[in-house]
Amino acid sequence: MTEKIYDTLIIGGGPAGLTAGLYTSRAKLNTLLVERMIMGGQVMTTTKVENYPGFPGGIDGPDLMMRFQEHCQEFGLEVQYGEVQGLEDLGEVRRITVDDQPVLARTVIITTGAEPKKLDIPGEQEFTGRGVSYCATCDGAFFRDQVVAIAGGGDTAAEEALFLTRFAKKVYLIHRRDQLRATSILQDRLKNNDKIEILWNAQVTGTQGDTSGLTGIELTDTTNGEKRLLEVSGLFVAIGVTPKAHFLADTLTLDAEGYILTDGECRTSMEGVFAAGDVRKKILKQIATAVGDGAVAAIMAEKYIMDRQ
Ligand code: NAP
Repeated sequence: MTEKIYDTLIIGGGPAGLTAGLYTSRAKLNTLLVERMIMGGQVMTTTKVENYPGFPGGIDGPDLMMRFQEHCQEFGLEVQYGEVQGLEDLGEVRRITVDDQPVLARTVIITTGAEPKKLDIPGEQEFTGRGVSYCATCDGAFFRDQVVAIAGGGDTAAEEALFLTRFAKKVYLIHRRDQLRATSILQDRLKNNDKIEILWNAQVTGTQGDTSGLTGIELTDTTNGEKRLLEVSGLFVAIGVTPKAHFLADTLTLDAEGYILTDGECRTSMEGVFAAGDVRKKILKQIATAVGDGAVAAIMAEKYIMDRQ
């Protein structure tokens, strides 16, 4: 029996992967999308998406991603849950290892996205799940009427701080500089929320806790090095993301931070392999740009196959 060869294998089921899957399956390319855990990617941990066009008033992240999936199902996209461990160029086809099993595909689109960065401070790991969290949307409700802190000064930290005010009685936003990176609309909302206090020029450098979980965090003033303890029962870490491309470090060209390097048409350093969304080195990481990337990668994969027929 001859081994099945897919036209396109997509790694990752976030906005970029699902868009690529929509385009390739609609173009009748025989496509398999492999997802490790939960379809929808980082958007699944977002409460309200306000800047994806077509949804005035916003839409909840999981609802948006459900629509993406339903749309792909209309065109018969095949989905498999599993972990991709490796990728090899065999000339005419690529061999992808999924849960130790080889799968062959003419083209591959990598859309594995990114995951939250860690602070790398003492106790962070020990208290993860017992006060330390990387997802306010997932864990915020556990902190009803408590005092919590959020580390970071970008859009994620701002959105998560605002979300946490639904539950917590007080939210400290701790930022290492004296200016936020978050967009001005979010900055205005932070400043107008009585439950939020921004602690400027402060870095979370330690944790304190007992068998019940986290009880406080150590803050270091970034201007003079002075340390102090802040009593909180929750610490949400929102200091940016790191790309999920480590498993390809020996296979594709990555930049120093681990993002996959591509040209403007999403081509990676390997023939027939494309990257789209947050895992690719690019200027703006948004759902809208992930969707744009997914479409470009899919069209380029289709062209790659056509050019070789
Ligand atoms: P980000 O924009 O990279 O911001 C990370 C923040 O964490 C920065 O304020 C940074 O400080 C701080 N930081 C980084 N490393 C730190 C460390 N070791 N200790 C303390 N603070 C640290 O990351 P993000 O907020 O997760 O956003 C990622 C991307 O998604 C961005 O492009 C963002 O615009 C986008 N996003 C968009 C939306 C939206 O449009 N609604 C929502 C969420 C995310 P410095 O400022 O000093 O560097």
